[in-house]
Amino acid sequence: MEIKKGIAVSPGISIAKSLTLDSEDYRIPRRSIKPSQRMIEVQRARNAFKDAADELTSLQTKYDDIEQREIKDIFAVHLRFLHDRSLRKKITDLIHGESLTAEYAISITLREIASNFVKVKDQYISERAADIRDVERRLLKQLLGRKREDIDHLKNEVVIVAKELSPTQTAGFDKKFVKGLATDAGGKTSHTAIVARSLGIPAVVALEDLAGNVTTGDTVIIDGNHGIVIVNPDDETVKQYQQYSVEFTQLEHKLDAIREKPAITRDGTKITLLGNIEFPDEAEQVLQKGGEGIGLYRTEFLYLNRKDEPGEEDHYKAYAETIKVFKHRPVIIRTVDLGADKYTQSKRFAPEPNPFLGLRSIRFCLQNLTMFKKQLRAILRASVLGEVRVMFPLITNLQEMKQAKMLLHDAMEDLDEETIPYNKDILTGIMIETPSAALTAATLARDTDFFSIGTNDLTQYTLAVDRGNELVSSLYSSTDPAVLRLIRTVIQDAYKGQVDLAVCGEMASEPQHVMLLLGMGVRTLSLAPPMIPEIKQVVRSVAIEQCNTVARKILTMNSERHISNYLCDAARKVLPEAF
Ligand code: PEP
Ligand code: MG
Repeated sequence: MEIKKGIAVSPGISIAKSLTLDSEDYRIPRRSIKPSQRMIEVQRARNAFKDAADELTSLQTKYDDIEQREIKDIFAVHLRFLHDRSLRKKITDLIHGESLTAEYAISITLREIASNFVKVKDQYISERAADIRDVERRLLKQLLGRKREDIDHLKNEVVIVAKELSPTQTAGFDKKFVKGLATDAGGKTSHTAIVARSLGIPAVVALEDLAGNVTTGDTVIIDGNHGIVIVNPDDETVKQYQQYSVEFTQLEHKLDAIREKPAITRDGTKITLLGNIEFPDEAEQVLQKGGEGIGLYRTEFLYLNRKDEPGEEDHYKAYAETIKVFKHRPVIIRTVDLGADKYTQSKRFAPEPNPFLGLRSIRFCLQNLTMFKKQLRAILRASVLGEVRVMFPLITNLQEMKQAKMLLHDAMEDLDEETIPYNKDILTGIMIETPSAALTAATLARDTDFFSIGTNDLTQYTLAVDRGNELVSSLYSSTDPAVLRLIRTVIQDAYKGQVDLAVCGEMASEPQHVMLLLGMGVRTLSLAPPMIPEIKQVVRSVAIEQCNTVARKILTMNSERHISNYLCDAARKVLPEAF
């Protein structure tokens, strides 16, 4: 039994067999297998060799022209490697002798040969190292590709263990069978974590070297409440966690019972609780959990699960589906926030050296006007179906906001010409997620209808800490005094400028932060749908005066640790059963 501690990012308990994924870039971690699995791995290696050779042979037949002779010759060299008996024997001996996975045995064997080739002085031979790497990639593609296909056709419940997962991969998991996620990489507000929380799949990230120590088929417990992962637990531990899981589910059902009750503090202040979604079908979940509308629709996910770019009609259909659930309630559609950790699968965007500071979000849209206009037109067309609002992400200055609004007006004029109806008074807002936007909030407030504070990025950019990097995750905190001062500035400027204000970053989904946010003056929170009942329960358990006292005290503190401890104590006092 092995116990690992990481960061809890999505609550719940799961116990299932592992499906361990290796990374797309084919860096294969050393992983030991049980003696009983050796024959299975040997067979997997044999199949990979056979299928890779078949693939090459059929490719070879496509290059029959005389001028394509060179390509054919390269394939012939690769085929010779694949048919080399001593090479295969070396690999199967490794699997048998050292109990390694097929992937790892193939990878280290071929890498050793390639590095020996590189050392040879003869240029022709040293250049063959590239061929060996190619053969390695081809074999690994057979092994890993099949595993990825397995994920699409799961028949049993599994927990996914991986070095890292992209938001796209995570969003594609079948919730019926994928019961938990555990990754070596990631942070509390990485988009993969956000997607796991939205889907309600228990998840733990930042486990450092877990993936290298878990083989497909190992039993794994994921405790998404405490950030603990247990590999091959003993019977006693399994029993304990089964009991814990039952209790947790009961608590969740109890919380669901407050769905119909209003989100009002003990002294009668109404707090609006909205939901954050990535896909239209999540709107129903927001409603089920007692949410009063959509405070953040991350529309970029429309781009992430497909190869081609969505058209105006694809946008429109997705928005119409969402609005249908909340016909007379706000639906805030955020324009696409692509880039950073959200790239399309076809990697249409050239890799950037520093993507979080690069061509991301509104910046990308302002340089890709045809794409942006399609989305703006679709939002405007959908605006007649309900209470639609449009929100621009990652604004860093006034010009950017004005430019985005100008494009919205251009789209309005086009629709006017085509006599297509839309809401001429549609409300437009911006996300405050950069220090520059926070510091100029008073100016920005003059030209906008609402602010939504994106604490995930605001924290990242204020503290210069990558939100998805486990190596610096201990430095990432939305309750750092510097972040709190910026949040306070934005709230004050929103009040002075008379613009609506909400908080939609993950901070709003964390029960221990509710008193602080209410005490600082926030009255609208937009959060992960599964967290709505718990946050509502906190709201219903506190009085605003109490929250004001907490906020006043916190804003005099200079240490993040003191602030966190103080907030946990205060929350425990008002709602002991939840903490
Ligand atoms: C944020 O940055 O707080 C936010 C809500 O946007 P996202 O998490 O999609 O970057
Ligand atoms: Mg953001």
